[in-house]
Amino acid sequence: MSINIPFDNTYATLPPEFYARQAPVPVQHPQLIRFNTALASELGIDGGVSDELATIFAGNALPKGAFPLAQAYAGHQFGGFSPQLGDGRAVLLGEIVDPNGHRRDIQLKGSGPTPFSRNGDGRAWLGPVLREYVVSEAMHALGIPTTRALAATLTGEMVFRQQGGLPGAVLARVASSHIRVGTFQYFAARQHIEGLRQLFEYTRARHYPDTKTPGDFLRAVIARQAHLVARWMAVGFIHGVMNTDNSAISGETIDYGPCAFMDSYHPVTVFSSIDRQGRYAYDNQREVIVWNMAQLASALIPMTPDEDAAVIDFTKAVHAMPAMIDAEWLTAFAPKIGVTHADETDRSLINDLLSIMQDGRADFTNTFRALGSPGARDQFVNPEVFDVWDTRWRARIKKENGWQERMKTANPAFIPRNHRIEQMIQSAVAGDYAPFERLLQVLSMPYSDQPGAEDLQAPPAPHEVVQQTFCGT
Ligand code: AMP
Ligand code: MG
Repeated sequence: MSINIPFDNTYATLPPEFYARQAPVPVQHPQLIRFNTALASELGIDGGVSDELATIFAGNALPKGAFPLAQAYAGHQFGGFSPQLGDGRAVLLGEIVDPNGHRRDIQLKGSGPTPFSRNGDGRAWLGPVLREYVVSEAMHALGIPTTRALAATLTGEMVFRQQGGLPGAVLARVASSHIRVGTFQYFAARQHIEGLRQLFEYTRARHYPDTKTPGDFLRAVIARQAHLVARWMAVGFIHGVMNTDNSAISGETIDYGPCAFMDSYHPVTVFSSIDRQGRYAYDNQREVIVWNMAQLASALIPMTPDEDAAVIDFTKAVHAMPAMIDAEWLTAFAPKIGVTHADETDRSLINDLLSIMQDGRADFTNTFRALGSPGARDQFVNPEVFDVWDTRWRARIKKENGWQERMKTANPAFIPRNHRIEQMIQSAVAGDYAPFERLLQVLSMPYSDQPGAEDLQAPPAPHEVVQQTFCGT
């Protein structure tokens, strides 16, 4: 039986300024690494045998109904505006409506040059493809809004990066859409008001059908982004490149590049090799997302009937965001200490824990998971400081029923630790995909204790610590 992807494309009906028609560029020797059958059936994709899957998901054959295109967008990269970025190494194959009625994009990343490639080769190497595969699937299992990984294929071609020649690969990813803050900026920067209106109407109908005005739409996007960033923080996730072109309007985590999860807690943790100023450090994420939403607000202004009134209204919406993030943060962290309805005293209790974790170089994930058991104090280099906090917390938790169960579903045992990702990539480059498969398996149940997987729970030994992560290019 041949694969059937029931495409229902709408982005392709937008005017030509929105994209460039671009087929994926065929590769020498497509070879399937992995196909996410669970996700495929969730999407209503059926059929397909290995050879055909490799051909389709490496971009050598177009499935029936596909309308491949590279999307146009702009974006602020590390604060500087680029009026034209766009899909330089990706094509949108098309959209499908899943059996639950959710419209999703299927995109190939690493599928060859497009009119937006600038100086890039349009390709990806195996490392970032597997990193995105594992981390995005882990995020999904953690319950955090994210794009998903549908397939990974080898191209049989080499790509050349700083490290030398590396195996090329393509990731097939699924997203609620690939519309970014930068997509709005693209039209605003060109003063293309009609395009901006069409984009707004399209995006509103697709993601926020309950909103009507640009102001309501902005507030709805802000609410989802506040939720998202708070959830990232609650699992110690650092996106790494929160440029406005990497902020999805849908509120999903998108564009996994030099992202990483923290091991020991420190608010200024940053891994990305290109983030020398720490702009996108762990704790800065909550400020940067407000900045990104301010850019979305600015981009929406030119299409409003009364710009002065819109400036006042949108400024209010953006200024309200930090308090919203604080509230989302408390909602995300409260169950991590077993609390149902948290108040400001609980916020201090959580912040005090984070502060002693920082001083005590405690592992973020393992400390929360161990709270309430004797193992918690062992996470600290100065356990007596933890004991003082622990006494306070136990007095608080007495009032809570079922706190142990609540904490188990809020504090993962497993996160995709950076050193394990790096080791997995090294093995894969050497042809051994067993660590990749094992990571996927274990991370699909992050809140369950899994005997035999303790090695994936442990923080890195000193020689295993990864200091830097590199962009997906
Ligand atoms: P990023 O911030 O990594 O998501 O990418 C920023 C921009 O660079 C996007 O427009 C990408 O399409 C483009 N880009 C990144 N890597 C490549 C590549 N290898 N070839 C062409 N364009 C690329
Ligand atoms: Mg990007």
